[in-house]
Amino acid sequence: MSAATYRRPVVIIGAGLTGLVTAVSMQRAGLTPLIFEKKPHLPHAKTGVALWGNGMRVLDRLGVGTKLRTCGLATLSSEIVNSTDGRVLFNFNFSEESSGHVNEIIVAELNELKQLLLEELPSESVLFNKELDSFTQHGDYVDVHLADGSSAEGAILIGADGLYSRVRSRLKLQMSHRYAGYSTWRGVTNMTNLSKEFPLQLGREIWGKGRRFGAMHIRTGTLYWYAVANARNGEVFLRPFKKTLLNKFGDWDFRCREIIDATDERNITRHDVQERLQPVPWVENRVVLMGEAAHPITENMHLSTCLAVEDGHCLAQMLAEYGVRDPLGLEMYERTRKPRCLAVAQRSRRIERIAQLEHPLARWLPERVLGRRRLATALRRILRIIPDYTAGDLPGPILRS
Ligand SMILES: Cc1cc2nc3c(=O)[nH]c(=O)nc-3n(C[C@H](O)[C@H](O)[C@H](O)COP(=O)(O)OP(=O)(O)OC[C@H]3O[C@@H](n4cnc5c(N)ncnc54)[C@H](O)[C@@H]3O)c2cc1C
Repeated sequence: MSAATYRRPVVIIGAGLTGLVTAVSMQRAGLTPLIFEKKPHLPHAKTGVALWGNGMRVLDRLGVGTKLRTCGLATLSSEIVNSTDGRVLFNFNFSEESSGHVNEIIVAELNELKQLLLEELPSESVLFNKELDSFTQHGDYVDVHLADGSSAEGAILIGADGLYSRVRSRLKLQMSHRYAGYSTWRGVTNMTNLSKEFPLQLGREIWGKGRRFGAMHIRTGTLYWYAVANARNGEVFLRPFKKTLLNKFGDWDFRCREIIDATDERNITRHDVQERLQPVPWVENRVVLMGEAAHPITENMHLSTCLAVEDGHCLAQMLAEYGVRDPLGLEMYERTRKPRCLAVAQRSRRIERIAQLEHPLARWLPERVLGRRRLATALRRILRIIPDYTAGDLPGPILRS
């Protein structure tokens, strides 16, 4: 094994949130990251991101937390209300509910967060228009082959390439997904005079039968909203999404119609919600999976975003501690992260079961079917576990031989 191994970068596939947080964490830990992203640039569509205390602690470690707080807004409490009569079904204050951690939720634009992370990296370490095709593993490095014919050697290869990860499929890890039974749409809209329906610093989610609409302010006059509706597996939703959304939520109170109407169609994104069914290994020799590529979970309360941020930080910590050549670093990453991701996924599934309830006999809201107390218990359990991640130091790398 030659000393040249150390000069090989840690190659990351994908400049999504997972890839970018991982790259900045690696850099802070004294390692050399190199991202290949297949898109020509970061996406232009505006969408929001909500980061719980766990995610913010990582960003603080990386030195971008304060900057993000100035672009976004802290949400301090949240409530779930009934779509038909506006009754409050459940409310909570984040600092009271969290398990001993100082908690906050920062709501910001996802692109602004990605841009902040990008600015922390030297321009030569993020290459756009570079699609991974395949890779070959050798004893102490990985040959990475790109679709344009170019190639690179990496000390480690990280698959941060999302739900339909090519890195994972090239490892021949067939990951069966479970379609969660619903679809989500997200948008950012500029609108003033919403302080009654969606007060500043309050996250409000409205629950109807098999449907949810939630919104939080990114800043005064800028609202991040999301809509969730039960849908058949494979059901096709074409643009304009606004039309579908107005059909589903147009008659809801809280000025949902106006909010959807005021949103630029280009700033509405949609995706089906999938979840990993069978656990797969996340590590094979010098290749490791992270974020959505490793553990897609049902998208409730922005949990997958926060897990992705934790992943990046944790991997950098392990590599810094054990060195890039010691397989124990990747092994410890998998061992540390799997139970945490599994626990969050299980709780997310529980929320989903309550929230998306649409049984023909259950003409009432989940609250009536399950009882207020059970609903509150399920939600409180997840509120306790999400912030529970201590972002430790990122020490300099120990290059053990
Ligand atoms: C359509 C959509 C909308 C979402 N909207 C929100 C939102 O509004 N708010 C929120 O908090 N969360 C949102 N999420 C979830 C959130 O983005 C993710 O959970 C979180 O950011 C972690 O994702 P990731 O970085 O692991 O994967 P992704 O965000 O999917 O990023 C993977 C990256 O890898 C790149 N890539 C894929 N294949 C290759 C290849 N072969 N070669 C090179 N590059 C490749 C992709 O282009 C992409 O940039 C959304 C997810 C999706 C799919």
